[in-house]
Amino acid sequence: MAVLPPLDDRDGVIWLNGKLVPWREAKVHVCAHSLHYGNAVFEGERAYNGKVFKLTEHSRRLVASGELTAMQVPYSVEELDAATKLVLAENGLTDAYVRPIAWRGSETLGVSAVGTKVHVAIVCWVWPAYYGGDGIKLKTSRWKRPSPESAPTASKCAGLYVLCTLARDEAIAAGYQDAFMLDYRGRVAEATGANLFFLRGGELHTPEADCFLNGITRQTVIGLARDHGLKVHERAVWPDELADATEVFVTGTAVEVTSVVGIDDRAYPVGPVTKKLQAAYAELVRR
Ligand code: PMP
Repeated sequence: MAVLPPLDDRDGVIWLNGKLVPWREAKVHVCAHSLHYGNAVFEGERAYNGKVFKLTEHSRRLVASGELTAMQVPYSVEELDAATKLVLAENGLTDAYVRPIAWRGSETLGVSAVGTKVHVAIVCWVWPAYYGGDGIKLKTSRWKRPSPESAPTASKCAGLYVLCTLARDEAIAAGYQDAFMLDYRGRVAEATGANLFFLRGGELHTPEADCFLNGITRQTVIGLARDHGLKVHERAVWPDELADATEVFVTGTAVEVTSVVGIDDRAYPVGPVTKKLQAAYAELVRR
């Protein structure tokens, strides 16, 4: 497989604070507030055949993540949508991953963010398969998703990903592709960048998204499953329930619908319901 250059050394343009700038010039100062205090908010989007799937929902969530972290994103949803289309077109990309990010700059530094300016960038590049391979194995993590009383858990705030990176890298070091994360109560939560579903007794179950991101893909797949006549339960899920699961999969913009073929020592098949939803999602995003 070809090794791609690092992300700060590519050709193309990046949308930065309202302008398109040459890729290598889209830089941030080492005194940026968000680099020190982890309060950037971001999005992950995918374009298929030249169109970002659920673009406006993602732009809205970026603005909402800002509000949840007391940061006003200085562009409207319409402006963010237009900027995303522009940067994709200028880079000549039709099938790509898109990463908008809003962060606090280096105007002043200290725990208080008062006096900082909010900056926004939109980057896009080709990122075909998030995990590679047909199915993934998850390892239960020692790291737990925090309570909404302890963190802005409904936001896509950079600081929340400290846990996800620790959890995922420990899982990778142990030979798995991702972590199976529980929440602060010991309930099933999600993977580190994707929501989790399982099939039991012919019905789909997924943890209620009350302390982690209610993914746009999660909501889409719930709709698709119901359209296919499946019963879907969004509820509190305890880890021992996975013992009776006949299929498990994760959903997310980057991972799309990916089969989970193992959690710790337990194996799962790539089942027919997962395959059906994978196909339905692949068709919908390209429609
Ligand atoms: N959970 C986490 C922690 C994520 O980072 C993501 C990816 N944005 C998801 C779930 C899935 O969200 P979406 O389907 O909106 O991409």
